[in-house]
Amino acid sequence: MERFDVIVVGAGTAGCMAAKTVAEAGLKVCLVERKTVEEIGEKVCGDAVGKHHFENLGLNPPKNMELEKEIPGIKVYSPNLETVFTVQGEGLHGYVLNRRNFGQRLLKEAIDAGANLLESTLCIEPTIEKNFVNGVLLKHLKTDKLIHLFSNVVVDATGISAVLRNKLPEEMMVPRKIDRKDIEACYREIRQLKNEAEVPEMCEIYLNNQVAPGGYVWIFPKAGSKVNVGLGVAMRGNFPNPKKRLYHNILSKPMFENSLLLSGGAWTVPTRRPLDNMVGNGILIAGDAACQVSPIHGGGIGPSMMGGCLAGKTIIEAFEKGDVSQKTLWQYNLRYMEYYGIKQAGLDVFRIFLLSCLDEDLNYGMKYRLITEKDLLEASMGNEIQVRFSDATMRIFRGIRRVSLLNKLRITASLMRKVRDWYRKYPTSPKGFKKWRKETQALFEVVEQKLSQQ
Ligand SMILES: Cc1cc2nc3c(=O)[nH]c(=O)nc-3n(C[C@H](O)[C@H](O)[C@H](O)COP(=O)(O)OP(=O)(O)OC[C@H]3O[C@@H](n4cnc5c(N)ncnc54)[C@H](O)[C@@H]3O)c2cc1C
Repeated sequence: MERFDVIVVGAGTAGCMAAKTVAEAGLKVCLVERKTVEEIGEKVCGDAVGKHHFENLGLNPPKNMELEKEIPGIKVYSPNLETVFTVQGEGLHGYVLNRRNFGQRLLKEAIDAGANLLESTLCIEPTIEKNFVNGVLLKHLKTDKLIHLFSNVVVDATGISAVLRNKLPEEMMVPRKIDRKDIEACYREIRQLKNEAEVPEMCEIYLNNQVAPGGYVWIFPKAGSKVNVGLGVAMRGNFPNPKKRLYHNILSKPMFENSLLLSGGAWTVPTRRPLDNMVGNGILIAGDAACQVSPIHGGGIGPSMMGGCLAGKTIIEAFEKGDVSQKTLWQYNLRYMEYYGIKQAGLDVFRIFLLSCLDEDLNYGMKYRLITEKDLLEASMGNEIQVRFSDATMRIFRGIRRVSLLNKLRITASLMRKVRDWYRKYPTSPKGFKKWRKETQALFEVVEQKLSQQ
């Protein structure tokens, strides 16, 4: 029976970073992945990532075969296409990746640091003894052989499927289910355009609640005449089929005429605040499995890499202390909240505001600069948005009978502040958690109620 210090399940961006971090500290690590080694890195994704994530992680930025295109910023189109915000600057300057090659580099860094890869191996469930996760039950997909691996700590980095998180006992206080309404269903294709001149220079985002309710359409440039084009919708009520919407509303446009489909696929992404608690005895959750994604643009490559890295650092300290209980691993919750969780929670309020907006609200809001490029940049970074309405703005919005939109934005800004302040009070140990969680749920009920009421 082979035993590891750490088992990381899932060799995506979160898992590779977690495995690399702990392996670099000399711990014995097993990285389990259901894909074959060659497939690792492939993912249905927009492939865009901000430069600042690499700086924050001290990670070499993508280059050569990992990089499709360097991008100076993004363009955001209003639903009627009349207003275009060109947003450039820190946080939006970044890269469009070759996802597979980038994933292969992260995998190589984990293996070079000493991690052992178990490819083509499906994780079925965690094994638990005396309320501690002590390993995982696996099935080798080529031989159908069942394997029980033991370790001191397990990391669930299985993405949205959250295979281990789903099966943890209630007493660990790790949320097992994520509400469907906080998940985006997406469909995207990589297409080669007939005409390279049609490839946009920047990443383009099209807001339109008629076409993509609760989400957006994106066209991101890749190398040569290729683009990554996709559409996401919030899984609320009878949400539409994103593939049908993409074909009907976007791929029917002249720029895609005679374009070549290189690959296509559907996947989901959690777009909400982070998981309330990301640790139990002997287990940590990272990446999409812990909802470490921007609630407004669905960017999770950067946060998941940082989530994996912070999980790894916390494990190293727990080993130094000789204690892998939830109490010691709690530091990971605090670290993640400090790094991005507080901002993410504030942005979740902004997402709920956007969900409640009609296309007309967005058209007017952008046209009359109720939300400016600067606000959008700040919001995308999870920073404070200042809502200052001049008399002129009040007059315009009174004139077009949309004062309620001003009020809603004001309430949103105030709720964003309130939520961020609340997340700054995240409990420093598991002791205060149940109370904090209850009050957080109540706070978000108020947010939903206030913003959908307007
Ligand atoms: C359509 C779409 C577009 C997106 N666009 C962007 C974008 O442009 N920029 C951005 O930053 N983010 C984007 N995201 C989000 C981003 O892709 C994710 O947030 C990020 O990849 C999360 O990484 P992860 O490591 O947590 O999960 P994943 O990348 O999903 O990795 C999880 C890994 O676990 C493995 N696994 C799952 N279950 C098991 C199991 N039972 N046993 C063994 N292995 C298992 C999987 O095979 C996979 O390799 C997008 C997401 C979608 C769906």
